[in-house]
Order: sequence, then C-alpha cells, then structure tokens
Amino acid sequence: MSKTELTNFVVALLYKLFQKGIKKMEFSLNGKNGTYRKIEQYDPETTEKISEHYKKIIDLLGEDSSREGLHQTPMRVAKSMQFLLQGYEQDPEEILRSAMFKEDYRQMVIVKDIEIYSMCEHHMLPFIGKAHIGYIPNGYITGLSKIARVVDAYARRLQVQERLTTQIKDCIQQTLNPLGVAVVIEAQHLCMQMRGIQKQSSTTTTSDFTGAFERVATREEFIRLIRG
Ligand SMILES: [Zn+2]
Repeated sequence: MSKTELTNFVVALLYKLFQKGIKKMEFSLNGKNGTYRKIEQYDPETTEKISEHYKKIIDLLGEDSSREGLHQTPMRVAKSMQFLLQGYEQDPEEILRSAMFKEDYRQMVIVKDIEIYSMCEHHMLPFIGKAHIGYIPNGYITGLSKIARVVDAYARRLQVQERLTTQIKDCIQQTLNPLGVAVVIEAQHLCMQMRGIQKQSSTTTTSDFTGAFERVATREEFIRLIRG
C-alpha cells in the first residue's frame, strides 16, 4: 500500500467513524458479563422532533428557549426522556430466558432493595423506590441480576405502580414457571410530593403474589425476610 493509499484509507476510516459517531449516540445499561446485551440508540430524527416540541413547551411556559442557559436544554431533555423511557425497546422475558439454568433448588429466592426509577403516566413525573422480588424455583433458576433488569425494563416506561408490580410478577411466572412469585414495591411519587396534596413523605406499597405465595405462611416468611 502506497503512502497516498494509506492516507486515503485512514481518512476514509476516520470519516466513517465520525459519521457513525454523529448518527448513533449509543448507551448501554447492561454489563459486559451478562449474555444479554442490548445497546440503545438515540435515533437522530426522533431526538430532533422531541427536541423541537420541548423548545415550544419551554416558550409556552413563559421562558425564553433561546437564552444561553436553555439553548441546549431541549436536545438534552429529548435524550434524557428517551433514556428514561427506554423500556419499550426491551423484552423482559427475553432477558430472563437469556440466563435460565436447570437447578433442583426449591426454596425461596429473594432479591430485595432493587432500585426503581419510573415515570408516572398521569403526570410524567418520577416515582422512585425499591422492589423486592421472591420466587420458588420449579426446575429452573435465573441470574439474579436478570431479575433487576426485568424490573428496569418495565420501570423505564410510562407506568402506574400497580401495573408495574403485576407486569414483573407475570413476566417471572410466565418465563420461569416457578412454584410462586412475590413482588412488593415501595415507592414515593413526585407527583404527590411536588404538586397536588404535597404529601412529602408518604410511601405507596403495592404487592402481587402467585402460587405458593398465596399461602399466608409463605407470604409472611417472604415479608419477614424482606423486612429483616
Ligand atoms: Zn402522578
């Protein structure tokens, strides 16, 4: 390869990388160790459209979207909203199936204090809290981090806490077919704290159970273990 050819090759390569760089702004929430890996991309056209709407919203709210401090804000919000609502692009059942292992363990498995960052679908304000998940395997277990990812995949959508609870339960029940699933979510809703009745410290608790957890004794053991 001559010097000119080499230069042309390098220039072409850099140009390609540059093009790729501006076309795809990628983010990935998942670690490198998991078998399941999904890279999210901000579609530039969608981002631009969302950004234009936010610019108008800022002006309609009485601000000046062209002043220096707000100049980049619509674009930032457009990306941020896509990040916060990336759950639509994820398949929670697929996340679980990607790490299913045959195992004879038939005792309770509990993952507690899984952080939740979700968005209330009535006000588009965050609700933040913790999820506690339990299941009793019936031949198959799943990677513990996958349970947290399932929570994330449903939480990063426009949600109500009740539906979020049930969706997580149904996903685990349908995919792993365990002897029972228990889901408890405790969350604080900014729409209650910042507006409306302004209850600063109220927490909403939701729970849903299947199978073995419908028995009072099993459910009480689960509750005791997540409180402990
Ligand atoms: Zn709300």
